[in-house]
Amino acid sequence: MQKFDKAMLKKEIENNARKLFRRELTELNEKEAFHAVAAAIQNQIIDDWILTTKRAEEEDRKRVYYLSMEFLMGRALGNNILNLSAHEEIKEVIEELGLNLSALEDAEPDWALGNGGLGRLAACFLDSLATLGYWACGCGIRYKYGFFKQQIVDGYQKEVADDWLKDGNPFEIRRAELAKEVRFGGWVETVQEADGRLRFVHKGYQSVEAIPYDTPVVGYDNHIVDTLRVWDAKAKETFSLDEFDKGNYQKAVESANMARNIVEVLYPNDNHYAGKELRLRQQYFFISASVQTAVDSYVKKHDGDVKHLADKLAFQLNDTHPTVAVAELMRVLMDDYHLTWDEAWEITVNTCAYTNHTIMAEALEKWPIELFSKLLPRIYQIVEEINRRFCEDVRKKYEGNAEAKIAKMAIIYDGQVKMAHLAIIGSHAVNGVAALHTEILKKQELKDFYEMYPEKFSNKTNGITQRRWLLHANPELAEWVTEKIGDRWITDLSQIEKLAVYAEDKKAQSEFMAIKRHNKERLARYIFEHNGIKVNVDSVFDVMVKRLHEYKRQLMNILHVMYLYNQIKDHPEREFYPHTFIFGAKAAAGYKTAKLTIKLINSVAEVINNDASIKDKIKVVFIEDYKVSSAEVIIPAADFSEQISTASKEASGTSNMKLMLNGALTIGTMDGANVEIVKEVGVENAFIFGMSSDEVIELEHNRSYKPMDIFNNDQEIRRVLMQLVNGFYSPEDPELFRPLYDSLLNTKESDVADRYFILKDLRAYMQAQEEAVKHFQDREWWARAAILNTAHAGKFSSDRTIEEYVKDIWHLDKIEM
Ligand SMILES: *Cc1c(COP(=O)(O)O)cnc(C)c1O
Repeated sequence: MQKFDKAMLKKEIENNARKLFRRELTELNEKEAFHAVAAAIQNQIIDDWILTTKRAEEEDRKRVYYLSMEFLMGRALGNNILNLSAHEEIKEVIEELGLNLSALEDAEPDWALGNGGLGRLAACFLDSLATLGYWACGCGIRYKYGFFKQQIVDGYQKEVADDWLKDGNPFEIRRAELAKEVRFGGWVETVQEADGRLRFVHKGYQSVEAIPYDTPVVGYDNHIVDTLRVWDAKAKETFSLDEFDKGNYQKAVESANMARNIVEVLYPNDNHYAGKELRLRQQYFFISASVQTAVDSYVKKHDGDVKHLADKLAFQLNDTHPTVAVAELMRVLMDDYHLTWDEAWEITVNTCAYTNHTIMAEALEKWPIELFSKLLPRIYQIVEEINRRFCEDVRKKYEGNAEAKIAKMAIIYDGQVKMAHLAIIGSHAVNGVAALHTEILKKQELKDFYEMYPEKFSNKTNGITQRRWLLHANPELAEWVTEKIGDRWITDLSQIEKLAVYAEDKKAQSEFMAIKRHNKERLARYIFEHNGIKVNVDSVFDVMVKRLHEYKRQLMNILHVMYLYNQIKDHPEREFYPHTFIFGAKAAAGYKTAKLTIKLINSVAEVINNDASIKDKIKVVFIEDYKVSSAEVIIPAADFSEQISTASKEASGTSNMKLMLNGALTIGTMDGANVEIVKEVGVENAFIFGMSSDEVIELEHNRSYKPMDIFNNDQEIRRVLMQLVNGFYSPEDPELFRPLYDSLLNTKESDVADRYFILKDLRAYMQAQEEAVKHFQDREWWARAAILNTAHAGKFSSDRTIEEYVKDIWHLDKIEM
């Protein structure tokens, strides 16, 4: 290992300024300086990156390909510096050059190649894989436009295109030499070979060229660098003279447009399936390219032998989005490497594993046969054969009621291709993302599959990387933790348990609370700069940050705020502890109820924040454009962590973990990973309320829930709901929030009133809130409980999650560096 040379880095940054901008470093603006520094940091990484691959190949390590349509990476510069072994020296260089690291970091756009939790999980996993020394490649799409930027205009969400690549990405490398061809459309012809075998020839297809862009994923202080590989699309032979001469100009233009469209934009839906052809195109595009390169590089290393591929490659399917990988791997093994069906099938199943992320019906991907078979004729043929053989197996196993089982379990049924079924059948491992979620999968949603393949199922509770979510986001607390227990927690979060002995220590308590206060001041400055609202840093910072979704119940949160406001107006003499409600959430562009909920939050904020008579007892803040980089400012400042989804609906949640690690207390339902959080920290150090998942599932089944009864019998709740339709928060348009009112109370034809049991849980929620605020005022009690939350967050490191995947599913060995 070379010794780090400060003078050389300094010179390089100064040179970059001249090379990139033909000016001196001191003359650059923040964005330009960011590029000068980032290019130098990339240079610090590059040798380790090359060496990691070399070592892994020499040691013939197994490699995991994490296949995901989303990677919500956030910014790279700060994290890359932090993970490099020489990070102290690098920071000194930046300072000595007169640059401000945090300003440089702010000049980098977020890499918003994801929507929410699922994409952020992929990002945390890559960080953990590299830090633990495993050989990994994240494979995804290089969306030209990432997740849209949210502007709040007159209280409404407005979506603005995120042109994140317009100034270039200093961390990416275009790997033109690894380009692959991906084929769409056309038909399949069957040819009888001399040896009697059938060969399938794809004809009349349109080709797209897939070009990978690699970015480094730097392990923490270990010289291991893994890869995030995202694919760009280019028309194959755009405007070829040949086409031009034949008068096929139109066709050439069409294929150029098709290629461009594939990677144009990330679909902004979270937990929701839209069934658009372009989406299937995106899926096959990045999967075909990723599978081809993975098999290629394996075969190259192993002298053309493809038969032991499953020993050296693992494909993890992040939800059903990458499930065509099952059929694509079959295609490559049979059509390109001439394996028999049975040989190819065994390899495929042993290579693929599937992670389920939701049980919500509207999120289940299924494609009309017509669409699927037209776009991917050879792949459809293979899926048909997988399905035929599977149905045969079912008939063997369930003689009596096979047809009933097939109706529920077949991949192709009722004119549709069901991706979850293909994923389960084509994988050797299927996992849920929290203990409760996995139990629900086994007992309800995937019961039939669990019965057929019990050995495939396991739980892998999600996690988060403490490097980004504590070390980077909360440097002051990170330093305090290190001062108390040493720095091993950075790569082994179970160590943080050692903090528990400080929970009762008065000095430690006041230090911990002082740090929380500093983080609240930092967030208060951010809010003042972005929202123009002055918030009281002594007030409760009550934080709910996540995608806007009905099942997550932001509406329940704001209804409670409306209730509190009525209380203060009615009883101005009563004591009321100041409370700041902080929201951050983007709604899918076409999701009307979600967008109206954002408008409601902003309308309530407008009325309450401007009512001088309540003397700033309540402030409501909606933080625009919630993303990873703003999460890093918001989460360290939180007192309350709102995790209030309808029990059974949130598969895991991960913001619950980030907030716990940063010393916030959970106000939550027994849903997703909340169950495990409470188990770790103790129910007395959280505020748990509401229906259990069993109760929710039971009530959904017997359809006996009547929210109107609550409306009729609880006058305070009734009053809050009436304020949705009497113009209290929208005097210029009293009917504005009628759809929200209706969603809670009106059973219109097929519609279910209050599908997510908001009114059912509202009283219990109000009580949990009251209890939390009471405890918050007991500063000693609170400090103790907050320290215990941080101390008991060890389980929720993505390092722990990755080690479980490695042990039970991937069976990787570490690279020796
Ligand atoms: C962690 C994270 C999420 C996931 O939040 P949940 O509350 O688990 O849904 C979403 N968006 C961003 C930017 C995150 O960092």
